[in-house]
Amino acid sequence: MSISLSDRETRLRQTTRDFVDELIPWEVEAEMNHGELPSDVAKGHHDRAAELGLTSINMPESMGGPGYTMMEQSLIQEQSGRVTNALGWVVSTGPSWIEDVVTDHQMERWIRPTVDGDIHECYAITEEGAGSDVDGIAATARRDGDNYVLDGEKWHVTSANLAAYVFFQAKLTEGPNAGRHVLFFVDMDTPGVECVRVPEYAHTYAHHHWEMRFTDVRVPLENLVGTEGDGMSFSHAWFRYERLMIAARCCGAAERLIEEASAFANDREAYGSKIADYQAIQFMLADSLTELWAARLMTYETARAIDAGADLKIQHARCSMAKLYASEMANRVADRAVQIFGGRGFMRENVAERFYRELRVDRVWEGTSEIQRIIIADQLRKRGPGPLIG
Ligand SMILES: Cc1cc2nc3c(=O)[nH]c(=O)nc-3n(C[C@H](O)[C@H](O)[C@H](O)COP(=O)(O)OP(=O)(O)OC[C@H]3O[C@@H](n4cnc5c(N)ncnc54)[C@H](O)[C@@H]3O)c2cc1C
Repeated sequence: MSISLSDRETRLRQTTRDFVDELIPWEVEAEMNHGELPSDVAKGHHDRAAELGLTSINMPESMGGPGYTMMEQSLIQEQSGRVTNALGWVVSTGPSWIEDVVTDHQMERWIRPTVDGDIHECYAITEEGAGSDVDGIAATARRDGDNYVLDGEKWHVTSANLAAYVFFQAKLTEGPNAGRHVLFFVDMDTPGVECVRVPEYAHTYAHHHWEMRFTDVRVPLENLVGTEGDGMSFSHAWFRYERLMIAARCCGAAERLIEEASAFANDREAYGSKIADYQAIQFMLADSLTELWAARLMTYETARAIDAGADLKIQHARCSMAKLYASEMANRVADRAVQIFGGRGFMRENVAERFYRELRVDRVWEGTSEIQRIIIADQLRKRGPGPLIG
């Protein structure tokens, strides 16, 4: 089976690929400077992405976005995954999951400036005691007149250092919806919002992952997303989307690694021959390419099915399968690429070393591999294999 692309999709993929090829030469500088690039360079990348229609790529036209199909978004994200150090994150995504419930006020205050690239958001869901088990969160919200009062501590809040506002998930402590989840827009400069710690992670990104504390934070009722009790459904919609995009980026990363490792193997000599002549090296590349093709087909096919209006539960299971397989595939490919590069593959200036560290989190965030298997197994028991794999 192969997936054919329309002329428009082919063009979009090539445009993104050409743009990402402009980012790749900046990887090592970012790696050696805590993920940062000179501000004029970073701004240039952002402006260029905007000019090419590669910002807020998931936002529908109704919210001021480009209205790309899921297939088009997957093709774009696949290419953005080819560059390390999160330089590809300049190809941005916004909170598209909010489309059905966003109010005029929220649209003007937060969403439109986000789509225009003027401000950025971050997500505070995970806590020290609750990651996979999101329902275990201890953060609270209670109604007090025209306000909600929010309390809690959150971990791993990605891009918090660059964000103007945070989506804060909590459980209601009182009222008719006590115990149910709620989600709020919270401006980062609201009194009571603080950064507790900026931990170091395995990758070298300009986007930091804060530990945050929310103490007696008062937000007006209009900051509530949707209605009381809706909180979890938004998280599920976001997880579903982001899992497919992780799969796409992992495919891009694997393709880059295969290209780079192949080029090195064709050049490097040992014992009087190119190492590409040795079957041990050829087999690592052959396995990598085969697995990449499988992951790419899963990703594209899932995207096509979403565009065709597939049942939501089937979408959910397929996004999990694509994320599970593609993230584990990319980690295997990165491991083999390090091996092919030999000692060079252990140097931070080498793409294989950086991807070897960076891709590891794709088996953890937006649901660990174990959680993806639980979702897939649950759907398999309920529906049988047919509807899930077509
Ligand atoms: C770099 C980074 C950025 C992140 N960004 C954000 C962010 O922006 N916002 C946010 O809210 N969160 C963020 N996260 C959190 C991320 O989503 C969680 O780390 C992830 O969901 C796993 O939760 P946990 O770390 O608490 O692990 P745990 O849930 O404690 O899991 C630990 C281990 O137990 C396994 N496990 C758990 N339950 C089961 C089960 N039922 N069956 C079998 N095995 C199980 C897991 O698979 C894992 O192997 C980020 C994490 C990282 C590392």
